[in-house]
Amino acid sequence: MRIYAVIAALLAASSASLAQLSQSPGAVLYEGARLITGDDGPALERAAFLVENGRFTRVGRQGEVAAPDGAARVDLTGKTVIPALIDAHSHIGYMKDLTSGPQNYTRENVLDHMRRFAYFGVAASQAMGSDFGELPFVLRDELAAGVHADAARFLTAGRGLAPLEEISPANMRHAAYVVTTVEGARANVRELARMKVSIVKTWVDDRGGTIKPLAPELSRAIIDEAHANGLRVAVHATGLADAKALMRAGIDIFGHMIEDVDDELVALFKARPNTAILLALNAPRRVVARPWLNPPHPLILETVSPQQIARLQERLASQSPEAAAEARRAWDRLARGIRILAAAGVKIGVGTDGGGQTGDQFVGWTIHTEMENMVVAGMTPAQVLVAATRTSAEILGLADLGTVIAGKSADFVVLDANPLDDITNTRRISRVFLRGQEVNRARLRAEWATSR
Ligand SMILES: [Zn+2]
Repeated sequence: MRIYAVIAALLAASSASLAQLSQSPGAVLYEGARLITGDDGPALERAAFLVENGRFTRVGRQGEVAAPDGAARVDLTGKTVIPALIDAHSHIGYMKDLTSGPQNYTRENVLDHMRRFAYFGVAASQAMGSDFGELPFVLRDELAAGVHADAARFLTAGRGLAPLEEISPANMRHAAYVVTTVEGARANVRELARMKVSIVKTWVDDRGGTIKPLAPELSRAIIDEAHANGLRVAVHATGLADAKALMRAGIDIFGHMIEDVDDELVALFKARPNTAILLALNAPRRVVARPWLNPPHPLILETVSPQQIARLQERLASQSPEAAAEARRAWDRLARGIRILAAAGVKIGVGTDGGGQTGDQFVGWTIHTEMENMVVAGMTPAQVLVAATRTSAEILGLADLGTVIAGKSADFVVLDANPLDDITNTRRISRVFLRGQEVNRARLRAEWATSR
């Protein structure tokens, strides 16, 4: 079924897209840049790397990397190269300018979002349980096969599994499986396994005491059935007690930072080194500070309509002093927790919750603010870059992405300034390459400028 979807997409693809599929056969040697490979080592000054057939084949110092006869050479002196970024928690297809909802969930809009990710230097994004129907699986396979130019890879968890009271058309859980029994939950997970998801999404949150949360025996059944089918479970759970219970049940991924951290939680993480946490921090942080919005950063102006920018400015300006004070307290707690988890060596990845229902978490852009948030919280720029590349790729099972190492897919970003000096330099994007092919950012920019 997957193969047929890919073949159908191939037949439908334009000849330009088919050319993309064959990838650049010619060897290209990129030389002179500072290279941040995504591993733990220091940046490589005056590096060189060879790209052949869409892959890194040699990586080393300028002058020491041999290139085959006839290889093209690209001088990147003065630039910094990082592995393409990975957004491990997003919601694709809902947002469209001022509107957000399942009515926007079309082939065109999902592809537009994946092009936005590519524009911002993101090689892959994982939609966390808000997808529905056949479309996400078809597009996942097309994007994995490189059918669409200038677009990031799309990973889908399909429909998430939620308790009845979580489900609302207003929160992107309208299509979630309603979980009421252990057997039902197990059957839902098996259906997702047949659709070849790698991650199952669920929610464990009483929403401030307003709803009946997923019962522990149901979350345990979801985790158990997922593991039996070779899948991992990502959970929306921010409460400390919920987090501990889920850790003991074998949860794989927390989709958000936990609102508070104590010694017992740290001990649980240390005993389970494969349990990962994604820091989707944009919501509380931007209430406290949003230097990128006033005035809007040029990348926002290039990709988001003026009315959407104005709406976010108004929403944030109209926060009550009480709400702002609460956001500040929440942020301070989160930042303290992040410092503790990072110091304890917990596996931390980057998720943005981008494309969320309010329509304010601009697709693609938010990974750059999220990385800034993580540094403000107390991680170093080097730690954050590893989190946003190698670790996030590892969390999503993307063995081909996340580092600039011989053998990996040639997905990288060329920056005009060094993000180790200032993490906001990840926004100073000069060029983006996915599978060794340069993303045509000027074309995308022109398209977005004329479509609004
Ligand atoms: Zn989410």
